[in-house]
Amino acid sequence: MMERFTGAFTQQEPIPEAGIAAALAVMGHGRLHRYNTAPGEIAEAALLEEEFAAFTGARYCLAVASGGYAMGCALRACGVQQGEPVLSNAFTLAPVPGAIAAAGGHPVLVEVTEDLVLDLDDLVLKAKASGARLLLLSHMRGHVCDMDRLMAICGDLGVTVIEDCAHTMGAEWRGVPSGRHGLIGCYSTQTYKHMNSGEGGLLVTDDAEMAARMILLSGSYMLYGRHRAAPGEEVFRRLRLEVPNVSGRMDNLRAAVLRPQIGMLAERRDRWATLYRGMEAGLAATPGLRLIPRPEEERYMGSSFQFLLPGWEAARVNALVARCAARGVEMKWFGAPEPVAFTSRYEHWAYAKPQPCPQTDRVLAGLIDMRLPLTFSPEDVALIARIIRAEVLAVGQAETVENVAAPLAD
Ligand SMILES: *Cc1c(COP(=O)(O)O)cnc(C)c1O
Repeated sequence: MMERFTGAFTQQEPIPEAGIAAALAVMGHGRLHRYNTAPGEIAEAALLEEEFAAFTGARYCLAVASGGYAMGCALRACGVQQGEPVLSNAFTLAPVPGAIAAAGGHPVLVEVTEDLVLDLDDLVLKAKASGARLLLLSHMRGHVCDMDRLMAICGDLGVTVIEDCAHTMGAEWRGVPSGRHGLIGCYSTQTYKHMNSGEGGLLVTDDAEMAARMILLSGSYMLYGRHRAAPGEEVFRRLRLEVPNVSGRMDNLRAAVLRPQIGMLAERRDRWATLYRGMEAGLAATPGLRLIPRPEEERYMGSSFQFLLPGWEAARVNALVARCAARGVEMKWFGAPEPVAFTSRYEHWAYAKPQPCPQTDRVLAGLIDMRLPLTFSPEDVALIARIIRAEVLAVGQAETVENVAAPLAD
């Protein structure tokens, strides 16, 4: 009989007991707004910031409403002007170019390589051609480019780096936490990332002025004195009347849910690594399928898995995705011409104006992606890999695509 997978690719783990208890306590006293504190009380949001700053080794941290808000806030703090060019990856998720557009900037897309990271040679070309002074670098799907070389290039060109770490919270490059290379690191605590509060975002920086600007931007109502992972009063006094309020605070309820999860990130990283390596092992040496090499310098969060089908025609990829879906394996094809669910193809961001990226087009045409939630066991992953491997062989080696368009009957 043909094997089938019956697990849910979108099912995350429950909130830990400690997070549930802390959330109930916040609801019990009713002070959900971060600046609504009893005398002597420290808000959950302020404690979360202090603890996440310590986790990343950053001096300052700010909790906000979403990962998208975090990126927009970082860009505004850097003073993006109307129409200003901002470099970013041609392959990332829609909130990244969206944050640039919302801050008034114009996304300038940089090619990605077949290892799914920013093409640093194209970065040099696009930086010079556009004159951009900012790069919103997306560690898309957890793949980290050579950060040493990237920082050297950006240093030479005078380009400031903001990191989108939505897929790299807890990851490292040569021992440095993701989000700590650039001026500002942005994280998401949305359900599908590495800590789960439904929605939410975090910002880290060592720069006192940036930290104060972001706190004021997020809507601190002159109550910035209640922040703990924040610079001193004198920095705010200088800025408080010139920085507009663009409300996007995090509340105490979500902060309470998140705090116990910080200490779980290292263990989650190890469990994800086991699932990720299980997928790699199960798909190794499958003819027609290319795995993404992971550099030794990278310590990644394996919460999703990608592989390439180099040179496959669209009809064959479609047939593969359909046949895997029929066996319970949900994969996303980034090369699909129409946006399905979340969009990561730059042509779908019409506001970014047409800017062809032929190399990225070739990569996306054969790029398959799937989630690996921690509710999966190593046995689940082995089964998923067996199904994909069998279908890649069947579809890839069929003489005509019509022969394999329909899933095989049992
Ligand atoms: C999820 C995500 C974000 C932002 O997330 P929010 O949904 O706004 O919290 C940013 N970048 C990437 C690559 C993402 O996947």
